[in-house]
Amino acid sequence: MQAVNNNPVPLLETRGLQKYFKVPKGMLHAVDGVNLSIPHQRTLGVVGESGCGKSTLGRTILRLLEATGGEVLFEGENILTYDKKQMHRMRREMQIIFQDPYSSINPRMSVVEIIAEYMIVHKIYPTQQQAFQRAAELMDFVGLARRYANAYPHELDGGRRQRIGIARALSLNPKFIVCDEPVSALDVSIQAQILNLLMDIQDEMGLTYMFITHDLSVVKHISDEILVMYLGQCVEHCGSDELFENPLHPYTKALLSAIPEPDITMRGKEIRAIRGEVTSPINPPPGCRFASRCEHACERCHRETPPLCEVGPRHFVACHLVKGEPVHV
Ligand code: SF4
Repeated sequence: MQAVNNNPVPLLETRGLQKYFKVPKGMLHAVDGVNLSIPHQRTLGVVGESGCGKSTLGRTILRLLEATGGEVLFEGENILTYDKKQMHRMRREMQIIFQDPYSSINPRMSVVEIIAEYMIVHKIYPTQQQAFQRAAELMDFVGLARRYANAYPHELDGGRRQRIGIARALSLNPKFIVCDEPVSALDVSIQAQILNLLMDIQDEMGLTYMFITHDLSVVKHISDEILVMYLGQCVEHCGSDELFENPLHPYTKALLSAIPEPDITMRGKEIRAIRGEVTSPINPPPGCRFASRCEHACERCHRETPPLCEVGPRHFVACHLVKGEPVHV
């Protein structure tokens, strides 16, 4: 297990991060002014409905998509100013685990070749043989039996394929990993195995994660802090326990009330249905983006965008109903 890193500079920070896409009807605001910070060796869960921009946020941070505006600070340095060569070096530090690793790997490569690929591209070892040897060790590390070394991805089930994705992400010894819905496509029993594996690896290697999911029960299990996104913006961000015990934004409250409850004594619990039309993310009008679906919306909500405010220690909310100190970028 790694020693705790108490560096006051967060490993990763974004300031006013934007990613817009040009579409026939105008500009789609997929990520719109997101501020976040993740301390070393911690996990930030990012939750929200499909299409809220959470995957785009992860990819923009990694520069798999070029940002429209804002900053991404890695250990205090804005990597959006890095040229190609600097970014190539930075790729070793920042990796991604995809929901479906099958979509990101060459199906004609064997398991050991897939895991060794980045090490060969980045010339981590003098010979390919050494990269394959390290790939075999990584198979042990992620619990993938060596007998699968020469198998092809289509011969393996989803859980084992995800272990390949994890081993490949670890192959360059990164500090930061974006886990983009890594368990959403897996059976529940396999989900737990992969989540536990990710947490063990974090302990062992001192990694920092951004864990993207639409499933709040999964994110609670793994996250230190949670950021709730709605239509490209952060609406609430706080500690994981705090979010479940004291949610403040109406959207967060509705999401939490919709978590399925296995306890039959809780069958009567109130579920807050979110009604109303979703605001279009294309050229969105001013005002709160949740206003068309919020039962508390007033005239001000349709006119003025609520700023993200700190309402308690590291508890941030963007809602006119909640009073706090606005966070300035
Ligand atoms: Fe609802 Fe207004 Fe708060 Fe938006 S700002 S969440 S519309 S009360």
